[in-house]
Amino acid sequence: MVSLALGWVAYRMPFARPVATAHGGLEHRAGAILWLDGPDGVRGLGEVAPLPHLAERELPRALALLEALRGEVERGECAVEALLAGWRDWTPAGRALRAALETALLEARARRAGLPLARWLSEEARAAVPVNAIVTARSVAAAVGEARAAMAAGFRAVKLKVGGTETEAAEVERVAAVRAAVGPEVRLRLDANGAWTAERAIRLLQRLASEEIELVEQPVPADDLEGLARVRRRAPVPVAADEAVTGPEAARRILKLEAADALVLKPPVTGGIALAREIAELAAERGCAVIVTSAFEAGVGLAAALHLAASLPGPLPACGLATAGVLATTLVDEPLLPSRGDLHLPVRPGLGVTLDMAALECWCREREER
Ligand SMILES: [Mg+2]
Repeated sequence: MVSLALGWVAYRMPFARPVATAHGGLEHRAGAILWLDGPDGVRGLGEVAPLPHLAERELPRALALLEALRGEVERGECAVEALLAGWRDWTPAGRALRAALETALLEARARRAGLPLARWLSEEARAAVPVNAIVTARSVAAAVGEARAAMAAGFRAVKLKVGGTETEAAEVERVAAVRAAVGPEVRLRLDANGAWTAERAIRLLQRLASEEIELVEQPVPADDLEGLARVRRRAPVPVAADEAVTGPEAARRILKLEAADALVLKPPVTGGIALAREIAELAAERGCAVIVTSAFEAGVGLAAALHLAASLPGPLPACGLATAGVLATTLVDEPLLPSRGDLHLPVRPGLGVTLDMAALECWCREREER
């Protein structure tokens, strides 16, 4: 007997403008929206969003796994809960799918309780989350232009993607130009997406010591935890682990090595909201900060990340959730745009977003509905 109806739509859409990262330019985002419809008519939404540079490869794997699990999922919410508890596939595809199924389950429960998901997760959930602007343009002039636009929009924190320039002198020049453009009051972060070696990172960050960098995300490749720890010890800039934070076990290793001052949490990478909250607790015990960041998901995944961020206790640095404008469309009717550097939580129960069916139709690549 089917007691939960599963449906999904895979999408592929362009970025609003190409995003340059150390992984190269991102031009398209592939992902999938899934839903679980309960017998009481309550729908839970989730988004399958492996990291964008992996998505073309990982999304088909995630959808094949979803189809393999369909019989189990459709047995009902208890079966989904058991699936999540006994989850075995911790590949990027498996973690992204786990996050989507868990989001759909949690959203249905929050909606039944009549609460926004963040409030359902925590009574002390905040109503708004501070967010950073993101500057990705490669050329110095264009990066300065993006940084000035962020200032005009009221952001108090800016993250600059680095690691894409040929020479160390060019990296330093670009960072210094953006710092000069935003002035001394704005927090400036760097994100190398794993592009540097530890030695290059240390040299560069020493040269950037006077630029008051708030932190550098993932200066070295995700699997180089020793290198990350070395950068943290020797560079005059706090270090955040991002791509390396693939779940509580990975977080424990990072914390044990004292390799980071902050951990970046992305539900599709950690395997869902609950595991991200578990990591946040581990981090808090060790005096390590956490930052919630989107993975350039469409609106469902972005809403899930926002509710996660709002549910976390304690001081929260600006989060990387000002990304609704990055894609051609968010696929939802409520695009979750920031206002003066804050992103306000939707007040409706659950995730608080509804699917924009016309947009979903427009960017649909494949669908499965029964
Ligand atoms: Mg990052």
